[in-house]
Amino acid sequence: MNSPEQIEAEKLLSVLFYSPNATAVYKGDDITIISANQAMLSFWGKDNTIIGKHFRTVLPELDDQPFFDILKNVWDSGETFTAKNYPAILLTEDGPQKFYFDFEYKAMLDESGKTEYILHTASEVTERQQAMNLVEEKSISEQKLINDLSALNDEYLTTNEDLVLKHEELFAINTELRKIRKKLITANHTLAENEKRFKTLVEKSPVAMASLKGDRFEIDIVNDMVLQIWNKDRSVIGKPLEEALPELKDQVFIDILSNVYKTGRPYYGKEIKALFHNGEEMKEHYLNFVYQPIFDENNNSTSILIVATDVTEQVIARESVTEFKNRLEIAMDASRLGSTEVDLATGKMESTPQFKYNYGYAADEEFTYPDLFNAIFPEYRDHVRDLVREAILTNGIYKAEYPVKWRDGSTHWIQAHGRPRYDKNGVADRMVGMTTEITDKKLAEQRKDDFLSVASHELKTPLTAVKASIQLLNRIKDKPYSPTHLRLIEQSDKGIEKMCLLIDDLLNMSRLGQDQLMLQYNTFNLHDMLAKSCNHIRIEDRYQIILKGNQSLKVHADEHRIEQVIVNLVNNAMKYAKESMEIHILTESLEDYVKVSVQDFGEGISESVLPHLFDRYYRADHLGTTYSGLGLGLYICSEIIRKHSGKIGVDSKIGEGSTFWFTLPKKTEHIIADAALN
Ligand code: ADP
Repeated sequence: MNSPEQIEAEKLLSVLFYSPNATAVYKGDDITIISANQAMLSFWGKDNTIIGKHFRTVLPELDDQPFFDILKNVWDSGETFTAKNYPAILLTEDGPQKFYFDFEYKAMLDESGKTEYILHTASEVTERQQAMNLVEEKSISEQKLINDLSALNDEYLTTNEDLVLKHEELFAINTELRKIRKKLITANHTLAENEKRFKTLVEKSPVAMASLKGDRFEIDIVNDMVLQIWNKDRSVIGKPLEEALPELKDQVFIDILSNVYKTGRPYYGKEIKALFHNGEEMKEHYLNFVYQPIFDENNNSTSILIVATDVTEQVIARESVTEFKNRLEIAMDASRLGSTEVDLATGKMESTPQFKYNYGYAADEEFTYPDLFNAIFPEYRDHVRDLVREAILTNGIYKAEYPVKWRDGSTHWIQAHGRPRYDKNGVADRMVGMTTEITDKKLAEQRKDDFLSVASHELKTPLTAVKASIQLLNRIKDKPYSPTHLRLIEQSDKGIEKMCLLIDDLLNMSRLGQDQLMLQYNTFNLHDMLAKSCNHIRIEDRYQIILKGNQSLKVHADEHRIEQVIVNLVNNAMKYAKESMEIHILTESLEDYVKVSVQDFGEGISESVLPHLFDRYYRADHLGTTYSGLGLGLYICSEIIRKHSGKIGVDSKIGEGSTFWFTLPKKTEHIIADAALN
């Protein structure tokens, strides 16, 4: 043990012995303890007798710990080993105990790099370690605690949420329960009062109401309104409907009620006719009503509630409006009155077929406001527009007469009446118009105007001649009577005769116009009458009137009027067939009537004018020759014959002459009956 190496080692390491750190020096691969200071010995619990001994020998308690192997490895490898907080179980007085060390086995190498010594330094860190352990332990337990707490917290939170939800649920249930309870309480009350209230409701209702119980429709509740319709009093309560109102037996109502009761489906009746007995007779009512089934808790009908309104007045009012409308339509059709409604903004028109027809459009054609204005003669358009505008401004009626040109080029006269209609803001948005075609009236007016000028002209001509003759006569009145006097008197007489004829025509005309041509019937010999009237006519000797036919023919007629016809026809023959020296008058007896014909052999009449000869004011052209006349003679003749229920006509050929004829019925009874009608 006292080897020089040992001494040298001791010398070398003597300084370490005083170090507060535990120090030991080992040597050799058996780890011989060369040196150990007090601090190290204290750790080991040994004294310095262990110096020079083998590590394993003196510290057998460390055998099952890694220290020897580490030392051996350091010795062999020459590599220093350093450890911190390394545990070691050491023997103490109280037995083995665990300590912690920071230590180093430092390999001290010789020049050849071989381990010469191992320097072992150690410091005990048990307390620190324990503190650390404690800290660690604490921190672990703290963490655990935190974890636990957090888990707990989570759990708590979830529980809390659940609780909140549960709480809310409970709260809601509670509120609901309270409500139900409240409802139950009110329901109890309501149930009791419901029936009462229902009854009052029915009784006080402003519409007719009744409740019928069971499938026999026993009258349960009724109000005055329903009793009024039924014309019954409250004694009907409790009776089945059919018994209370036997008149319903043949009407639809009981069947409908049965169906509602059976199917549970309500029935809505609109304007259904019902007949109720009012004591004397059946009275007609029109009703709007509902049959509403009432169910028990098993959904079976128990009764039917009737709610009805009497709409009789409305229905009758509407019917009379419809009736009025129909009558209006008939009247409008009959008078060929067309009507329209114009939308002023769009120009669209809703027109009746007659309205369209008045402007030359078919019923199915579109006809607009611009179309209407286009049809109007251009010179009338502004005037019509002004009238319409003024009607809108004054809310008045406009009336206009204007000619229109149909698309086929023909001209027609229209009389239009119109009135604006206003929307709820007072703005005129529509125009209602009525039109009728007045072409005939207009032509008649035109003819009348023409006629008046012709008539005055015709009268003025002979009057002027008469006036001139009289003036001349006046001048020579003191002179001795001469042929001039005679000529002037004759001229005046002719003029006056002409005027008389014209005035006769005019008078007859006006009588015809007023339908005052009264016939005075008598039975007379036709031939005699003709012979007599021809004496009147035969003024100018150059004409010869030849009477032909049955001389004993008698007729029942107005002799004077028939003579007037003959005179007219013979006068016309002389006037329009001057070259015909003979005028033949033929009387014939045919099956039911007699026929009288006046034939001339003059120029004849063109076929195209024949149909118009008997028209009022009609006068044919005679190629340059002008004849005085009013175009009334033949018209008056035709009217006289028509009144006698006879016929009048003409057969004529250009260049051969004309035959004017008329017939008179033979059957006097017939004539008398007709005359009585006249
Ligand atoms: P008015 O003689 O005053 O013109 P009327 O009614 O008597 O009127 O006759 C109508 C027209 O019939 C006459 O304008 C004439 O053109 C035609 N007319 C009548 N009688 C004859 C006749 N015998 N021959 C040819 N034309 C006739």
